[in-house]
Amino acid sequence: MSVDRLRNYIGGRWVDSKATETGDVFNPALGEKIAEVPYTTPEETRAAVQAAHEAYPAWRRTPPLERARVLFKLKNLLEENFEEIARTVTIENGKNLHESRGSVRRGIEVVEVATGVPSLMQGLYLEDIARGIDSEVVSQPIGVFTAIAPFNFPAMVPLWFLPMAVACGNTFIAKASDKNPMSQQKLFEIIDQAGFPPGVVNLVNGAKDTVDTLIEDPRVKGVSFVGSTAVAHAVYKKAAEHGKRVQALGGAKNFLIVMPDADMEASVRIITESCYGCAGERCLAGSVIVMVGDAYEKFRDLFVDAAKSLRLGNGLSDDTDLGPVVTASHREHVLGFIEKGIAEGADLILDGRDGHVEEHPNGFFLGASVFDDVKPDMAIATEEIFGPVATLLRARDFDQAMEFATASRYANASSIFTTSGKWAREFRYRSHASMLGVNIGVAAPMAFFPFGGSKGSFFGDRKATGKQAIDFYTDQKVVISRW
Ligand code: NAD
Repeated sequence: MSVDRLRNYIGGRWVDSKATETGDVFNPALGEKIAEVPYTTPEETRAAVQAAHEAYPAWRRTPPLERARVLFKLKNLLEENFEEIARTVTIENGKNLHESRGSVRRGIEVVEVATGVPSLMQGLYLEDIARGIDSEVVSQPIGVFTAIAPFNFPAMVPLWFLPMAVACGNTFIAKASDKNPMSQQKLFEIIDQAGFPPGVVNLVNGAKDTVDTLIEDPRVKGVSFVGSTAVAHAVYKKAAEHGKRVQALGGAKNFLIVMPDADMEASVRIITESCYGCAGERCLAGSVIVMVGDAYEKFRDLFVDAAKSLRLGNGLSDDTDLGPVVTASHREHVLGFIEKGIAEGADLILDGRDGHVEEHPNGFFLGASVFDDVKPDMAIATEEIFGPVATLLRARDFDQAMEFATASRYANASSIFTTSGKWAREFRYRSHASMLGVNIGVAAPMAFFPFGGSKGSFFGDRKATGKQAIDFYTDQKVVISRW
C-alpha cells in the first residue's frame, strides 16, 4: 500500500524533506500505517528559522488591524474546511468525530480571540509620573517563536499558539507531533490560502533533534511546548539555558472529588465522559475519582454501569463512544499500568483489556477499565496512564480528599462534584491544580482565559491563550519622556 510522505512548509512553499530517517503514522482504528513523517534535518530546520527570521521585520511593521484581517480570512477558511480537519484528526488519532469537532472548534476560537489584537495589544500611558515627565508602556513583538505539539490534540494545540503569536507581529514555526502530524499538514494547507506573507508561518516535521535544533538556534526567541512532563521539563531547561522565553505544558493526573451531596446521576454522566472521552488521552481527563464518605455507595455502581455501556468502535462511525488509543505501543503502555494495578493489589472491577471491535481486528482498542480499592500511593493513583482507565479512591471526609489530590506531583486540572457552595469555595481555595471544575468534568479554559497547570504539569510563568498569551508573545517596553 502506498502511503503519503508528509512535507514541510517553509517560506510559503511546500518542500520535501531530504531526511532519510522517518517515523510511521497509523490509523489506530484500522491498525494500518497511513503516512510517513520525515525527521527533518538540522539544515532544513534552520532554513525554516531563516525564512521566519527574514519575514519578521516586514510582518512586525504590518499594522495590527491588517494582521488581524489575515486571521479573519483564516477563520473563514477553517470554518469551510471544518469537517475535513475533524476527519483528519479522527483518522490519525482515533478519537470520535464528535470529540474531534469539539477540539477543532476550540482551536478556531483562539483565532477568533486573536483577531482582537488591536485592542489586546494596547499599552499604558500616564502623564506626570514626575513634574513634566510622562511614561508609557508599549507592547512589541519579539521575533521568531516556535511551538511543539503533542499527539493528542493535533489540530487544536498548534492553534493555541500560532494565531496569538502572529497576531502580535511575531513569525512562527510549528513542529507537529511525529505520531499525529497529518492534522497540522491539513491546517497548513488551509493557512497557505489565508494570505500570510511567505515565512510568517512555517511547519517542520520531526522529533527530538528537530526540537533541539529549533531551541538552540539564536534566531528563535521563544518556545511553547505541550507534551509529557519529562520532555516538558527537558525543553524548559534547554530553552532557559539558551536564554529563551518558554512555556512548557506537561502531563497530568487529574483528581475528581465526589461529595456525598452531589447530584449523582449528573456526576456519573459527566465523570464518565471526563475519564473515557478521547480514550482518556486528554491532559484534562479525569483519572482518580475520590469519593467522600457515603458518596462511594451512591456513585460506584452507577459509574461502572456507565463505563460498561460505552460503545467501542472506529471514531468515524456515529455510534462510537470510545475510539482506539493512538498507537500499538501506547496500548501496551496502558496495559502495563493495568497489570501494575493488579500486582499492587487494586481490584479491577471493570476489565477493558480485551476490548476489541469485530470489523477492525488490528485496531488499537481498549475497553473502559475501573479499579476499586485503590490506595493513594499506588502507581495507578499517582502516575499518568493516559488511557481509558479510572481509579477509585475512598476518602473519609473532604479534608482527606484534598490531601490525596494535593499530594500529586501533577497539578493540571481538578474538579469537585457537589451541591454545596461551601465545599466548592474550599476546593478552589486549597487546590494546587490551575484548571478547576465545579460540577464540570473537563475544565478546559476558553480561548480568552489562560490554559495551563502548575507543579509538574507546567514549567514557565505565562500560560497559553488569553491575555497571558499576549504577554508571552510581546515585550513590554517602558518609555519615560521629558520634553
Ligand atoms: P511527548 O512528550 O512524547 O511529545 C510531545 C512533543 O515533543 C512531540 O512533538 C514530540 O515529537 C516531541 N518530543 C518527544 N521527545 C522529545 C525530546 N526528548 N526532546 C524534544 N522533543 C521531544 O508527548 P505526547 O505523547 O505526544 O503527548 C501526550 C502528553 O502530552 C501527555 O503527557 C499529556 O498529558 C500531555 N499534554 C499536556 C497538555 C497540557 O495542556 N498540559 C495538553 C495536551 C497533552
